[in-house]
Amino acid sequence: MGDQANRTILVVEDEKEMLQMVSDYLLALGYRVLQAEEGREAMKLFHREAPDLVVLDVMLPLIDGFEIIRKIRGFSSVPVIMLTARAEESDRLMGLELGADDYVIKPFSIRELAARIRTVLRRVSPIEEEQKLQGLIKLSDLVLNREKRTLSRSGKMVDLTAVQFDLLAGMMEHPGKVFTRSDLLALSGTALTEAYERTIDAHIKNIRKALEIDPQNPQYILTVRGVGYKVSDNITSPREDPLL
Ligand code: CA
Repeated sequence: MGDQANRTILVVEDEKEMLQMVSDYLLALGYRVLQAEEGREAMKLFHREAPDLVVLDVMLPLIDGFEIIRKIRGFSSVPVIMLTARAEESDRLMGLELGADDYVIKPFSIRELAARIRTVLRRVSPIEEEQKLQGLIKLSDLVLNREKRTLSRSGKMVDLTAVQFDLLAGMMEHPGKVFTRSDLLALSGTALTEAYERTIDAHIKNIRKALEIDPQNPQYILTVRGVGYKVSDNITSPREDPLL
């Protein structure tokens, strides 16, 4: 079986030629490739597409690669390979200390990068991988299917709109992670403005209505006061549905 099948790689690099060269090569190998030229775009794609691996340049405008991996590691163990132009050992160690799985020093051979990618991807647990290939996220009695865009609770389908589904899918990928309203806007693919931030509250309210047994006492989507929302990472034996 080709390792590349269904694998999505996010490449973050501001030098357009380099970005294109890496992307073209990975595409030719059969990977699905996402491109970002700076950190905010990278985080937005990361939340929305849940890539299998990130190729991350250290030298980026605004937010550098170290800061981006720090953010990613706040909620995800996705494999990250860093690209660094700097030969100093301290920089290489910095990346590894921040949780990079590997690094490649520029100028590098594209074949070497591809070989590192293959090696790092093989380390990912087969069970997680299998579920991911099927597009499934399981959490307590919730099963979300990204491919079919369905959600069930205790085997019963929950009806969600497209935006509600995208928000919940993004949150369920990282149980326990607190999402600010602007994080959630990024997940929903909406531009960042204060007015739109308030619409997030309305979306969450509606998701709770569809999903929660008692929307007034939510157990799946919790409010983190003054910050935002999270999907609980500690859902214990769901209560009986009073409507049953
Ligand atoms: Ca760069």
